[in-house]
Amino acid sequence: MLDPFKRDINYLRISVTDRCNLRCTYCMPETGISLLKHEDILSFEEIIEVVNVAVQSGIRKVRVTGGEPLVRKGVTSLIESIAHIEGINDLSLTTNAVLLEEFAKPLADAGLHRLNISLDTCDPDRYAAITRGGDIRKVVRGIVAAQKAGLHPIKINCVINQTSDEPDALGVKEFCKNAGLEVRFIHRMRLDKGEFSVVEGGSGGDCPQCNRLRLTADGKIKPCLFSDLEFDVRRLGPFHAITQAIQSKPECGTFSRNNQFHNIGG
Ligand code: SAM
Ligand code: SF4
Repeated sequence: MLDPFKRDINYLRISVTDRCNLRCTYCMPETGISLLKHEDILSFEEIIEVVNVAVQSGIRKVRVTGGEPLVRKGVTSLIESIAHIEGINDLSLTTNAVLLEEFAKPLADAGLHRLNISLDTCDPDRYAAITRGGDIRKVVRGIVAAQKAGLHPIKINCVINQTSDEPDALGVKEFCKNAGLEVRFIHRMRLDKGEFSVVEGGSGGDCPQCNRLRLTADGKIKPCLFSDLEFDVRRLGPFHAITQAIQSKPECGTFSRNNQFHNIGG
């Protein structure tokens, strides 16, 4: 469906949880985070209903994200259900890959097409510092398992502070070249300050080309990452929430004070 600025809205990103097994410094505070109540989090049945309605409105691409999507119990069965929805021709997932070694094959078998994996450095100590305790060896094992499972392409999301020539980014670039992975450099953003820019090697952050809607773990359709507009699927029903979100998609993002990356999914 076209929005008022003639952009074809065909991409839905679904955050399935606000929980995460890491605490990346740019995404989540170390402690004191207020998490959604379990009853506020959409069930898989509700998510599948939203996707079914979204397909009728022209959605063709779905990405499952989080928080960390692999910590949501049963996420493989959700992927399987979405993969069976006719009209979805691109089904991907964004993960920190900590649990990927175990999940790669079941996800591929469930019908997942491809993966984005977050990796901001190849230095084990820097990785532990950025993620507040993550073990990079698990990520590497997860990447190998995903390649073995035939998930392709695997894209690495690398958050940079200033430029893609800084040492951590150069290390990631080299690793990706050797491992046959694509890499996208994402400038560290501040939703509340409206600090965003185009993703190097990717398609985010370019308002005139934006084709996305987002579904938060608690059932809000957001037409723009950098806006406080949101439409509640439980209150409005999926059809009206999706239609109103498309019709009110801002021409360009400004800022968002009511969401964070860990609950909206990036
Ligand atoms: N936990 C999963 C992961 O890290 O891949 C999925 C959710 S995470 C919120 C999705 C993406 O958002 C990740 O690639 C992460 O690097 C990115 N992200 C989080 N906070 C960010 C920030 N402040 N600026 C730019 N990207 C950010
Ligand atoms: Fe968790 Fe992903 Fe946020 Fe890191 S970027 S804290 S892995 S949700």
